[in-house]
Amino acid sequence: MRVPVTGLVGHPGETRALTRAVPAETFGSDPWGPAVGSVAGPVALDLHLDAVVEGVLVRGTVGFEVSLPCARCLEPQEHAFTVEVAELFVDPTKRDEHDEDDPGYELIDDLTAIDLSTLVRDALLIDLPVRALCRDDCQGLCPVCGADRNGGDCGHRDEVVPDPRWQALAELDLPTE
Ligand SMILES: [Zn+2]
Ligand SMILES: [Zn+2]
Repeated sequence: MRVPVTGLVGHPGETRALTRAVPAETFGSDPWGPAVGSVAGPVALDLHLDAVVEGVLVRGTVGFEVSLPCARCLEPQEHAFTVEVAELFVDPTKRDEHDEDDPGYELIDDLTAIDLSTLVRDALLIDLPVRALCRDDCQGLCPVCGADRNGGDCGHRDEVVPDPRWQALAELDLPTE
């Protein structure tokens, strides 16, 4: 997603708001990987573009709605979250050529634009919940018939004989998220 920054570059102190809801596809598919299908609805940008001596500082929030399956019963779960961002898009012509640091973000198109795609994708990937549960005590699916145990007892609860080799694991009190 390219955003024009003419009028900002070279005018430190200028600022411009960028408040917009943008379809997730606008930010491309690589490298969202498995995350791309989980974004539900538009991405809410609430950003300020501040002209600074080195380039343009982008700060504000990026809001996502994602739909992830419950890790136990596979019911889709909606999550909304907001990620704070603050990234400098530097003027590459002012970069110190001896600077060994990661080049990070740069102004493009002869200093007339920035591309927000990577920034937005990174914001999602960093904050995407790794494991969703519809509720802490979700009963999950029956391993015998596949029924959702939250919907009632399918009658198989006692048929599953735990393998004694796994019993020690089952007795471990693992922390839950
Ligand atoms: Zn569940
Ligand atoms: Zn069952």
